[in-house]
Amino acid sequence: MQGDINSMLLYEGKAKKVFKYTDDTVMMFFKDDATAGNRAKEAVFEGKGKLNASISAKLFEHLHTFGIDTHFIKTNGEHEHECYKLDIIPIEVVVRNRAAGTFCKRYGVDVGTTLKNVVVEWCVKDDALADPPICDDAIVGLGITDIVTLNHMRETSITINNILTQLFRRVELQLVDFKLEFGLDKEGKLLLADEICPDTMRLWNKQNESFDKDLFRNDSGDLLVGYRKVEELLINTL
Ligand code: C5P
Repeated sequence: MQGDINSMLLYEGKAKKVFKYTDDTVMMFFKDDATAGNRAKEAVFEGKGKLNASISAKLFEHLHTFGIDTHFIKTNGEHEHECYKLDIIPIEVVVRNRAAGTFCKRYGVDVGTTLKNVVVEWCVKDDALADPPICDDAIVGLGITDIVTLNHMRETSITINNILTQLFRRVELQLVDFKLEFGLDKEGKLLLADEICPDTMRLWNKQNESFDKDLFRNDSGDLLVGYRKVEELLINTL
């Protein structure tokens, strides 16, 4: 699909391309490209796109069984998801169960510090600004979205965290943190959008070893080995 209809390309991000499919749907193509630190580091991992498409599809289907509304309709081949077309709310929702990444840098805490409560953070989805953190009042004040929608995003993100934490616990992985995006469909209904995969989450085993993009960010191991393991565990569990 991606070769045929480049004229219908709606958006190209760091790890995905989004094509118009029908009036109400898009086709999301998962690329093999990996970036870290807002493109400070870039590489191509042959097979990453297929792994992320497969993992993300399994996680979206699992969320559907719990009644979470998402944009995911079905896979199309190995690299693509057919999804409902949404108006994306330009806010990245980061959910944290343990301290890692920018949270440690910002607050000077050790990687892996246990948090007394789940932390939900908002960041502006804007590469030029390096996705800065933003508070509720600024989101509403700037008209990015309203407080009712924001509260709904927060509640849904916490529910998703509970569902995915339990799922990964079954395969002896810890869900450390992850990023979500939401959008509104043509009826104004809030749906989970984008992807959930090892590019957008941190997963550790009992020894706190990574099975996610930190393998690339920190040069700590083979990214594809980690992603394949996550896919295999999910295939054997779901
Ligand atoms: O970098 P940081 O520690 O804030 O990331 C928190 C979580 O959100 C990580 O799992 C990371 O992969 C994800 N994330 C993302 N896209 C971003 C920022 C963070 O997927 N733009």
